[in-house]
Amino acid sequence: MKFNRRAFIGTAAATAGTLAAPTFARADGHGKPRVVVVGGGAGGATAARYIAKDSNGEIDVTLIEPTRAYYTCFFSNLYLGGFREIDSLGHSYGTLASTGINVVHDWATGVDRDAKTVTTAGGYTIPYDRLILSPGIDFVDGAVAGWDVSAQNAMPHAYKAGSQTELLKSQIEAMPAGGTYAMVAPPNPFRCPPGPYERISMVAHLLKEINPTAKILIADPKENFSKQGLFEEGWNKHYAGMIERVGPDFGGADVEVDPAAMTLSIDGDVNNVDVCNVIPAMKAGKIADIAGITEGNWAPVNAADLSSKMDENIHVLGDACAQGDMPKSGFSANSQAKVCANAVRGALTGSTVFPARFANTCWSLIDTNDGVKVGATYEATDEKIAKVDGFISETGESSDVRQATYEESVGWYDGITADMFG
Ligand code: FAD
Repeated sequence: MKFNRRAFIGTAAATAGTLAAPTFARADGHGKPRVVVVGGGAGGATAARYIAKDSNGEIDVTLIEPTRAYYTCFFSNLYLGGFREIDSLGHSYGTLASTGINVVHDWATGVDRDAKTVTTAGGYTIPYDRLILSPGIDFVDGAVAGWDVSAQNAMPHAYKAGSQTELLKSQIEAMPAGGTYAMVAPPNPFRCPPGPYERISMVAHLLKEINPTAKILIADPKENFSKQGLFEEGWNKHYAGMIERVGPDFGGADVEVDPAAMTLSIDGDVNNVDVCNVIPAMKAGKIADIAGITEGNWAPVNAADLSSKMDENIHVLGDACAQGDMPKSGFSANSQAKVCANAVRGALTGSTVFPARFANTCWSLIDTNDGVKVGATYEATDEKIAKVDGFISETGESSDVRQATYEESVGWYDGITADMFG
């Protein structure tokens, strides 16, 4: 072969793959079964941890996650409100790695379902017997006229926590006296149904302290939203006259933004705004699409084990899956992960598989010690994950009940992050 530059680059790439192979050699039937988990968030970290912990070394678990520290979206609104420090939201993968999980900090970029391998941006090809995808969400292109991810510095979404959340807070803190914070709320279904409205509460709390004549404007494409009565009661009580929500009847679904001019047009009316928090329509994280297991925006799964309806060797957890009645939340993803881990372990080692039971609670903080919640339990039916029964805070509750609800949420945060990261 003539050794020109192009051939050399090709050889170098091939060598990277060859060098990588021994690290991730296939079990070939007689070795340990291999589980690869893509995404180290609420669903993926929990699934990896439970499979590794409960299989006592019988299963090789690899977790692929690009970031070295995962910042929880849960409680990121409380950071905006001044109730948490950003560092308290960050969690590393060190404990998971020290318990035998092979943590690979890389992006999964391809899935070969016939060969049962995952390829990564770093050039690895990693074989699996079962693949678990929990990549969270991406945004639907063109969902908000005038906005795409290249505008996320001017108009942040802050719907993936970390630098976006810090950016949004710094923009709110820099607003001129009496300025306007605007939010473009997303259409259903989306990550964390109460999330935008808890955010409004926390932004109002911050502005009331540092910029009390500021205004909050919400353009919302939905008629109704989660815990609406509770939020509206709280907004009237704590932030009277500060918040205006424009629903679909008044053009809330007909919006356009101009990130250069800092304007938000609602039904043709142009508003000059100082901060514009654009939360676009969502879809499953891109790797689900690449794997070819999505239908529309989400990946349909079987309720009993979260297996893909298109490939029994792939499971999809959390926000990315279409499973039925559970809201897209960290609590839900964690609950689904434990059911999936139990089923995958059973399929690969013959261990006992218990009937699938799921639970979710979503807490929201409206103001200091004013916490509310909504939750439910669920079961697996042939058709979907189906709601069994539910509960919700009531309007007019005493301040003691609201404080206890908030304190419960703090305990939940500590519990779920320990359950995810060890
Ligand atoms: P994630 O937790 O987002 O994890 C996905 C991971 O996959 C990420 O770490 C990402 O880096 C990784 N990833 C993506 N693509 C790839 C790839 N190709 N290769 C490798 N890795 C990849 N939920 C609650 O239960 N309670 C709350 O109070 C709450 N509050 C919220 C507040 C806000 C403002 C927001 C935005 C969300 C809130 N949520 C809450 C929702 C919760 O954060 C999500 O539902 C949950 O994180 C979903 O878990 P997941 O595993 O599906 O995705």
